Amino acid sequence: MNIILFGAPGAGKGTQAERIVAERGMVQLSTGNMLRAAIAAGSDLGMRAKEIMDRGELVSDDIIVGMIDARMDQDDCAKGVILDGFPRTVAQAKALDEMLAGKGLPLDHVIEIKVDENALFARIENRAAETGGARSDDNAETLRKRLAVYHENTAPLLPYYLEKGVLRSVDGMASIEDVAAQIDNLLG
Ligand code: AMP
Repeated sequence: MNIILFGAPGAGKGTQAERIVAERGMVQLSTGNMLRAAIAAGSDLGMRAKEIMDRGELVSDDIIVGMIDARMDQDDCAKGVILDGFPRTVAQAKALDEMLAGKGLPLDHVIEIKVDENALFARIENRAAETGGARSDDNAETLRKRLAVYHENTAPLLPYYLEKGVLRSVDGMASIEDVAAQIDNLLG
């Protein structure tokens, strides 16, 4: 089973992806985590990505699609993947369709974690406090930009996946356990 966890920054995609990994043995593919690993490794890609991420903008589709394509070829992904933070543009979604078709893999569910955006500022502030400011994009100013980018580039994926008949939504304002239960229900 291959699924996409979809939602605004701070919706809880990463939290839920980690739980699904622990319970179902699937593999989490978080493009944000991959980019942060590249930054930590001090690679050229990391250096270029950091500036873009700190501005709350999107890293280019080519780089992101290349990263996911290479990762999906690794053996562990045969167990099924949870895409977290990818795709974020219609071009990425189309590239994913082609990639999956080429590998003979299905896209089973796109799960939208719906949240009230006003609550996201407090969540991001909490995450910054809990992680000791590990993410330099976890601040109100960058979050405003990330939300604007989400509306402009990422929200158009909702009608894209609705039309394909794979889109499901859960109430992301519920507790972590309750959101997890809603997702489990959908996954069966
Ligand atoms: P995330 O950890 O998913 O919130 O991603 C953090 C940042 O990494 C984003 O604000 C973007 O700058 C970059 N990023 C992560 N995933 C993507 C993607 N699929 N496409 C473009 N940029 C991305």
